[in-house]
Amino acid sequence: MSPELTESEPLRVAVIGSGPSGFYATEALLKSDLPAAVDMYERLPTPYGLVRSGVAPDHPKLKQAIEVYARIAESPAFRFFGNVNVGEDLSVEELKQAYHAVIFTSGAQTDRKLGIAGEDLPGSHTATEFVGWYNGHPDFRDREFDLSCDTAVVIGQGNVAADVSRILAKTVDELKHTDIAEHALEVLAESKVREIWVVGRRGPAQAKFTSKELKEFGDLADCVPVIDPVELELGESSRAELEDKQNAGGRKVFELFQSFTQSPAAGKPRRIHFTFRKSPVELLGRARLEAVRLEHNRLSGEPFRQVAEGTGEFMQLDCGILFRSIGYRGVPVPGVPFDDKRGVIPNTEGRVVDGRSPVPQLYVAGWIKRGPTGIIGTNRADSVATVQSLLGDAAALKSLGQRSGAEETSRLLHERGIRYVSFSDWAKIDHSEIERGKPKGKPREKYTRTQEMLGLLD
Ligand code: NAP
Repeated sequence: MSPELTESEPLRVAVIGSGPSGFYATEALLKSDLPAAVDMYERLPTPYGLVRSGVAPDHPKLKQAIEVYARIAESPAFRFFGNVNVGEDLSVEELKQAYHAVIFTSGAQTDRKLGIAGEDLPGSHTATEFVGWYNGHPDFRDREFDLSCDTAVVIGQGNVAADVSRILAKTVDELKHTDIAEHALEVLAESKVREIWVVGRRGPAQAKFTSKELKEFGDLADCVPVIDPVELELGESSRAELEDKQNAGGRKVFELFQSFTQSPAAGKPRRIHFTFRKSPVELLGRARLEAVRLEHNRLSGEPFRQVAEGTGEFMQLDCGILFRSIGYRGVPVPGVPFDDKRGVIPNTEGRVVDGRSPVPQLYVAGWIKRGPTGIIGTNRADSVATVQSLLGDAAALKSLGQRSGAEETSRLLHERGIRYVSFSDWAKIDHSEIERGKPKGKPREKYTRTQEMLGLLD
């Protein structure tokens, strides 16, 4: 007979990753009818994943989600283990021994590739690198972005491309009271970039910006959005897409594009150009990036299923820096099945599968489960669904017997010389960042090096 769960011997779950889906999974577990305890493991010393290091510094409202997560973390049944890399510092097998279940919520940490010649030339960067750099992510602290050129190109027309372009377009005054990393503000202050081209492979009816994000380009201090009206001509399928009742968002975006055909320059020195139906086919340059070769596309297919096809006509756009913002990708965790084509952990309703067979004890939620789509709140329902699957398996999980949880893993971490960061340690880092920000009128000045953060704790 399987032992009953109690407050002192609860269902022990390890959550891997401390972004929105990790906290929503934690919340769902702690609110469930079963006595449960959650230990959250995070590779960085700091929690909150993309809310800390992805959400743009000039979007502070989106960061308010952190207040919800901090409240979840107050539960006595929750523990945080920052600075622990699962797969390296602790193996998945060790976690399976220490816990009844493990939920991977590690997000999508890398970028999709364009797969074209010249992609790795100096001056060609991924959006991930740039976003991580201006947000003070330790992995990207030492990246260098040469903004001494006149023209920057951003490939892709989703909200990450919008963030990257907007940060390039803003003045220092528009950014200096945000939590942007100091090293990034210093480089952006010297930027010579005047022309920003945002390139979409499909048309204006298929751009993935949300209207709220796109609208901001009309309100910048020193930059105007520009669109050649010819670019907004639509084929039949695209017109049908915009007329669709369900597509109010697409119509709003298109109306904003129309308004950008008439933006008054008003003496603003920077311009952001939106251009459509063009795919990069090669990045050109001798020692570093000098231009991107684009192929003109035509769209074909039914409404909402249109694909871009090359026309065989090409153009060249000179540029000194380029950002590939064509979507994120998950990275594999050693010891866990991985779908390399989709960049996710294969699963059925959040239960990790190997081929068709479920892998006992392993679950997945968020971007590493479904791919990099949706806004922060989308992850709540996703994590709740995974936790429902897990609770549905409670009888099998309980039959594994008592699990020692962090008692066992903290022993292993001590043995391996890993200085893990508890939630109260994080509170010290958090407090110190906020204090450092005060004299500059910033909500915080982030620490951008792991050693610096650990140095605050001992
Ligand atoms: P996304 O919305 O999927 O946009 C990716 C863009 O890259 C699309 O325009 C896509 O075009 C294009 N693309 C993909 N492959 C390409 C290729 N081979 N060549 C040229 N273009 C290519 O992804 P994202 O911008 O990375 O955003 C990820 C998620 O985070 C989204 O759900 C987004 O809304 C969310 N997010 C939200 C906010 C916010 O709320 N403020 C901020 C940032 C991110 P096709 O449409 O043709 O595939």
